[in-house]
Amino acid sequence: MNSEHSTSLAEQRVADRGIERYELEAWHTQFGIVAGITGRGFDLGLASQRSTGEVLERWQRLQTDAFPQFPSIVVSRQIHGTRIARYAPLPPGILIGDGWDGHVTRVPGQLLAVTVADCAPIYLVDRGSRAIGLLHAGWKGIAAGIIEHGIETLCDVAQCSSRDIVIHCGTSICGSCYEVGPEVLGAVLGRPAAAKGLLDLRSAIANRAWATGVREITVSQWCTVHHGDRFESHRGSAGHAGRMVAFVGRLPS
Ligand SMILES: [Zn+2]
Repeated sequence: MNSEHSTSLAEQRVADRGIERYELEAWHTQFGIVAGITGRGFDLGLASQRSTGEVLERWQRLQTDAFPQFPSIVVSRQIHGTRIARYAPLPPGILIGDGWDGHVTRVPGQLLAVTVADCAPIYLVDRGSRAIGLLHAGWKGIAAGIIEHGIETLCDVAQCSSRDIVIHCGTSICGSCYEVGPEVLGAVLGRPAAAKGLLDLRSAIANRAWATGVREITVSQWCTVHHGDRFESHRGSAGHAGRMVAFVGRLPS
């Protein structure tokens, strides 16, 4: 069920070297960009119950096994806010920020990452410069304006206009699986809601992006609940899910 402003585009399964993930072939071909999400069973949550050492070791394995072309990976403890970090060239390694729900860069070889388990990862690219962005968008962040702020930040970094930007709304809970109260519906849709109802996060995001001038918007067909055999769902597991990592990076030429 897509917004009238978006078309569907599915990430394809990749399973080399033991870390199952799903990637957008179209972005690889068209932009030289790796964009996707890891599958279930490889918990990368920074606030999970596993020990910090174990989680860090997994991040290091993700880098060496799955993304050797990316010397730097950035990720942050997320707070469902609207702060977005921008990056100059970074030293090799894994940079863990605090309080950033979005990342933007124009530097090739940097892998941007957000952790998700129902919230939507939002991938952005400027067609011209191939500067990229990645946002962590749950209902709170959407209501607070992270989509608009993310587009604005990428436009600033890339010196482009919103019409130059392509957006993909990635794997998240779908509109038939996500029932929310009227206060949540009202906050995301920007108008009062009288009763609880189903919320399609990605449609709401597509509509907001369209309103800023973005004209090329795609939506993943994967749902974390419907496709719970492949992905982690916070809601589908009563809060016990691990965290997947969504990633985007421009390959060094
Ligand atoms: Zn669903």
